[in-house]
Amino acid sequence: MSKTMKALVLRGGKAAIERRPIPRAGPGEVVVRTTAASLCSADAACVSGEFPTPDGTVLGHEAVGVVHEIGSLVSGFSVGRRVTAASTTPCGQCANCQRGFSGHCGGSAWGGYTFGVSRDGSLAEYFTVPFAEHNLVPIPDGVTDAAAVCVPDTIASGSTGPEAARFPLGGTVVVFGQGHIGLAATMAARALGVGLVVTVKARPGGEALAQTVGADRALNLAEHDVETEIRQLTAGAGADCAVEASGVAESFARAVAVTRLGGVITVLSSYSGPDDASLSIPLARWGWGIGDKTILSTFQRSGSERLGRLLRLVETGRLDPTPLVTRRYVFDDSERALADLAAREPGHIKPLITF
Ligand SMILES: [Zn+2]
Ligand SMILES: [Zn+2]
Repeated sequence: MSKTMKALVLRGGKAAIERRPIPRAGPGEVVVRTTAASLCSADAACVSGEFPTPDGTVLGHEAVGVVHEIGSLVSGFSVGRRVTAASTTPCGQCANCQRGFSGHCGGSAWGGYTFGVSRDGSLAEYFTVPFAEHNLVPIPDGVTDAAAVCVPDTIASGSTGPEAARFPLGGTVVVFGQGHIGLAATMAARALGVGLVVTVKARPGGEALAQTVGADRALNLAEHDVETEIRQLTAGAGADCAVEASGVAESFARAVAVTRLGGVITVLSSYSGPDDASLSIPLARWGWGIGDKTILSTFQRSGSERLGRLLRLVETGRLDPTPLVTRRYVFDDSERALADLAAREPGHIKPLITF
């Protein structure tokens, strides 16, 4: 058997396929033979340098496969089992992990996100899952690779906003942004029992996809007076919850504005800017500081227990991420898959890369 594999590696500001040794499982690790993977804007950010990533790092954090080698301290898995791994790979043991905030593993805001950034990722024929008992999860038999590959990041991240908001059954949710995270938030809101889901994009387009995954009304800022229309849809009150998944600072203010008194705003975005940059809150629409509006800043809730619950939603058909897979590639074409995603063509959401 060959001792080397192909891997998509960051080298000199570009991503290219190189040959690397097949990794060996350390005591707490599992090595997975990859069967499918996907990409997202975070991979493009590693290549562009927006996320500082060392030269020589294997990219990727969204993959499925079968167990190849099991570390001596890992139990609960057998060789050949279909699995996927959390896209953030926290230790599960540090103070922030034990407090339930594994995204901030080790103490920094991005601390849990190490796969393909500060350690080798999963865009390779084999990849290593660290802290495997915390981060590795079996895939139910009825769940396809195309569906399962959307779970570790897209669904896990996008569902965190609606899940954290604890909105009332039958309530109204507005989702700002309809990239893969916003679309997943839309799906999760429907699965969690929202009565009315309104999506908001900057420009027209993508309405059919938003409605396929759960939007009752698909609005855009170019053609709609969004705040007025949401008030009309909610008898003047505003939404129970707004999920901000666009990453645009102005949408944060809009999310506060469209949320009713006592409602919840959950932020699924990270905003870029200098250290002294600020977000603004529209004072009157915030209830002048006494509006009982809760602003939650969230990062992906992760871990094998939660991923198992999300996979169950897919297995039982309550949540179907496959409409998000808009292009297919073989692994040898993964450089092109990354370039196509970075070009941000309208209508292209997730690539499926098969091995
Ligand atoms: Zn991702
Ligand atoms: Zn930790």
